[in-house]
Amino acid sequence: MPTGLPPIPGETELDRLVARSRLFGADPTLVLFGGGNTSSKILERDHLGNERWVLRIKGTGSDLRTIEARHFAGLWLDDLQPLRERDTLTDEEMLAYLSRCLVEADAPRPSIETLLHGFLPALHVDHVHADAICALANAPDPIAAVREALGDDIAVAPYVRPGFALAKVVTEFADSRAVVLAHHGLVTWGDTHEESYRLTLELVAKAQDYLEAHGSDIFEVALGSGPAPEQFLAQLRGRLSRERRQVLGVDPSQRAVAGRSDVDVVAAVRSTPDHMLRIGPRTAVIDADGDIDAQVTAYEEDYRAYHDAEAVEGTPMQSALPKVMLVPNVGGIAAGPDAGTARLRLELAAHTHAATAATLDSFGGSSWLTPAQVWEFEYWPLELYKLTFAPPPAELAGTVVLVTGAASGIGRDVAVDLARRGAHLAIADLNAEGLAETLALLPPGRAVAVDGDLTDRVVVDGLVSAAVEAWGGVDAVVFNAGIAATGNLVDVDEAEWRHSLEVNLTSHFTLTKRVWSILEHQGIGASLVYISSKNAFAPGAGFGPYSVAKAGLVQLAKIAALEGGKHGIRANVVNPDAIFAGSKLWSDELRKERADAHGVAISELEAFYAKRSLLGRAVTGPDVAEAVAFLVSDRSRTTTGCVLTVDGGVPAAFPR
Ligand SMILES: [Zn+2]
Repeated sequence: MPTGLPPIPGETELDRLVARSRLFGADPTLVLFGGGNTSSKILERDHLGNERWVLRIKGTGSDLRTIEARHFAGLWLDDLQPLRERDTLTDEEMLAYLSRCLVEADAPRPSIETLLHGFLPALHVDHVHADAICALANAPDPIAAVREALGDDIAVAPYVRPGFALAKVVTEFADSRAVVLAHHGLVTWGDTHEESYRLTLELVAKAQDYLEAHGSDIFEVALGSGPAPEQFLAQLRGRLSRERRQVLGVDPSQRAVAGRSDVDVVAAVRSTPDHMLRIGPRTAVIDADGDIDAQVTAYEEDYRAYHDAEAVEGTPMQSALPKVMLVPNVGGIAAGPDAGTARLRLELAAHTHAATAATLDSFGGSSWLTPAQVWEFEYWPLELYKLTFAPPPAELAGTVVLVTGAASGIGRDVAVDLARRGAHLAIADLNAEGLAETLALLPPGRAVAVDGDLTDRVVVDGLVSAAVEAWGGVDAVVFNAGIAATGNLVDVDEAEWRHSLEVNLTSHFTLTKRVWSILEHQGIGASLVYISSKNAFAPGAGFGPYSVAKAGLVQLAKIAALEGGKHGIRANVVNPDAIFAGSKLWSDELRKERADAHGVAISELEAFYAKRSLLGRAVTGPDVAEAVAFLVSDRSRTTTGCVLTVDGGVPAAFPR
């Protein structure tokens, strides 16, 4: 039993409620991602200066980990009390009623469990979905399990969907020390913040001790990371991305659960409301060596049958695809429109799977809600409202793009632009320092970086592996790495010539070849964007090693387009010219050389290039990024084998 904990800090009662809530939020074995809620009844003054009791309760859509005072809604407690006399109240009536009890009109929508908190007489009430409590709450006989594990003074409320009805049920148990909600979680209360908080800790610890004494040892839930078979991931991601692209997260720490002989039973038992809401009726079990397409299709058919059987007529079906999978020998895998969502689902499932395994190990079986009850929860508008706080998906959500030469110039501009459009990135460059700077400009958790020389096949291999490991596959590659290489043919030595071809052409062939099998296994098409140059069509004297390689790159793209068409792989070229800002290509030496070649002063070189174009304006990195984004996205889905100029208009370099 936890003893000697310090008092919960804070100057006001509301401050202390915030501090108490964050203590819950900090412990993922108690609550996850917006789950659970807390409240305090506080004496406040109304607009006439009268002292009145106010229920301060967590607003829907906030998270206990990061909650602040403004995330709590205040409701006049004496306005809530008359509802206790009612026998029924629909969700709509409840929402309308609660909105009229608000102290501040612009408060967040109060938790759906507001009445449960309001009807209990205690000053402080806490509600969590703790793993160990959920393990008891899904035992074959939850009442017997709770009595044995937690004692006679802890009541068990039968499963009722949260809202008015559950509030009425829980009120009947107000004389007990706390209430376990069957198939749901725990409600504790107390006259002080400490009393309620510590009672939660005490009961969760007791539940854990009991489960451990009865053969379960799974309450070490910590996500891991590590490689999974590449071909399998690419196939799975492709199958899950036919409607819209998704990224995958892999958690090897769930290998033990995935390897259980009763994994199908674990996958079918949903032990918390959060799981039903965010993951659905069950986890899929996928055999990595089996037919991926057939296994996902079978899951979809099951889901469709469940929806057809249980849905209120006219309710549109959500995606039937599995969101979380258990894969023997691999672990847990989750899919989502972005890495954060996949990670959230993975973590939620890790807790649910662990709690379910504990139920099965400690009690030899489980009880569970009927499919009708699960559907009623999964499609409950009041809970789905929580999910509306997520921003709408960005244009390139779920899209994975490799960008080479990303440490500066065009590559950096392209990477930043693609990330802004929602893409997940694997960026590479020889310049580790510049690459780290670019990485720092990208949203955390949405990019991985590989530094190294792309003329080295090991580096190319590592870049593709890093993308597949991080996101499950690849949708596009921006072949941008390059170096300037100058000199008249008579002067260029052979080593310099070969080096230019290696960097500016052959490394792009190697990467094309390496990524190709991933793209084929995914089977959802892809976009290859080769950054060539105006020089490919309008070369300059003394610029041979560079111009020849860039011309070869255009041809490489055309061949990739020819060979990729039947797989939906598009290949296109962007031909920029004279981009100076942030470019490493334009060394002082090159500036001098080109200035001499054109007979202008070095200081006038940029203006010279800008003026010689038809549009007479300078070309920038973001201009190239715009063209790349178009070619990466489905907006260009019928374009392949094309050269798009971004050069201000240079007639000699018109594509032909
Ligand atoms: Zn709950």
